[in-house]
Amino acid sequence: MKKVLVTGGAGFLGSNLCHYLINKGYYVYCLDNLFTGREANIKDLMKNKNFKFIKHDVLNPIDLDINEIYNAACPASPPAYQKSPSNTTKTCVIGALNMLELAKKHDAKILQFSTSEVYGEPLVHPQKEDYRGNVNPIGIRSCYDEGKRCAESLFFDYNREYKTKIKIVRIFNTYGKYMDPNDGRVVSNFICQALNNMDITIYGDGSQTRSFCYVDDLINAIVKVMEDTKSDFLGPINLGNPGEFTMLELAKKIISKTKTKSKIIYKPLPSDDPTQRRPDISLAKKLINWEPKIELDEGLDKSIEYFKTVKGDFNV
Ligand code: UDP
Repeated sequence: MKKVLVTGGAGFLGSNLCHYLINKGYYVYCLDNLFTGREANIKDLMKNKNFKFIKHDVLNPIDLDINEIYNAACPASPPAYQKSPSNTTKTCVIGALNMLELAKKHDAKILQFSTSEVYGEPLVHPQKEDYRGNVNPIGIRSCYDEGKRCAESLFFDYNREYKTKIKIVRIFNTYGKYMDPNDGRVVSNFICQALNNMDITIYGDGSQTRSFCYVDDLINAIVKVMEDTKSDFLGPINLGNPGEFTMLELAKKIISKTKTKSKIIYKPLPSDDPTQRRPDISLAKKLINWEPKIELDEGLDKSIEYFKTVKGDFNV
């Protein structure tokens, strides 16, 4: 039986991935320090004989007998990763080092959860993998952006120095079930605000754009990249949904779907908040024959159903 380690396995993407891998019949080790991950996300897996949760911080080395590692551990929403920025950089860099060492020891394949944040405030639109980005190295987002860039660099160096089997995916904005209602992202904020009839907070004038991928599409792609045997391409590979929307469009969609009485209010735009973001996914289409199937309207409907079950916890 294939033994797979998911770091950050109780987080939003990690827990969705753990469920997917268990359903595929693998043995899954789920590692999480529960800084932003939530036990509720994996509660239904705890009794499964093929699932083992280990409360552990990737800043500390660990030894497990595994065939594959998905390295997802890191706070990922701006308010969460800015809470302790130095810890975010450490998690990105030392966490990656510890997991690369583990992969090297067991000759395991390791896939890094990188991010569209490596492109910073992009001067090229849409973003292709060969665009080197425009990151402010000393801004409030740099702990995450530069941490994730350094992790990519480490992954390639382990491959060049030790022949470690690596894959890197750059993940664009993703949403859906098991999101923490309180992590401060735009989709969770807007839906929870709407369901609780609270003001909907647009930062800036709402003209900034993002491209939102429903989590099931993303997990499907990530596993395809890990299990791809046809291509020896290591990455990075953009994964996301190229549909691009302004935050004002998103707010209006959510208001109409939830039939809320909420009103839109405007708050200051945080510094270094990217103006636009949209993945060019032609590489993923070519290499793994993947493109997202769930468009924003359908994904929002599914997400609204999920957030109805957790809206009482919302206190952003
Ligand atoms: N945003 C917003 N209202 C909120 C939360 C976020 O207008 O309550 C904006 C935020 O400024 C950014 C966009 O929505 O322009 C996406 O933010 P998110 O934190 O979800 O993701 P990221 O900025 O990392 O892409």
